Amino acid sequence: MALEDYHRRRDFNKTGEPKGAVEAGSSGLVFVVQRHDASNLHFDLRLEREGVLKSWAVPKGIPLELGVRRLAVQTEDHPLDYADFEGTIPQGEYGVGEVKIWDKGFYELIKWVDKEIIFTPHGDKMKKTYVLIKMKSSVRFPGEDNWLLFMKKT
Ligand code: MN
Repeated sequence: MALEDYHRRRDFNKTGEPKGAVEAGSSGLVFVVQRHDASNLHFDLRLEREGVLKSWAVPKGIPLELGVRRLAVQTEDHPLDYADFEGTIPQGEYGVGEVKIWDKGFYELIKWVDKEIIFTPHGDKMKKTYVLIKMKSSVRFPGEDNWLLFMKKT
């Protein structure tokens, strides 16, 4: 169940976030970045893939120039309609705080393998080709969810 983690963490009687469904067949691949003013401010990058939004929390924000590499921590898959979500997640709910769309549009998929994703978002802010690389677990960055996000050199 692709959205099992997403559903398990939320009480949809309390939060205004979409309950979501796995859908198939849209006209293009959606990407969104949501500014999430949670206990730690971060930016959630989400890429449509196989009917869900694959998601990463980027604590220091999306790189907008070459040479800047940012930690991106993979989080649970979100439903496609989450790409439209803006609002305040209430006290006591997972991810409490304000969510605002920072950038959104379609993206061009260049490569998607287990440990590397290359994509070109056509947004207002993200317009260049980006790379996501999965990091090996290390002392500084333990765990299997840590990726690096950066702009691809042309
Ligand atoms: Mn978040």
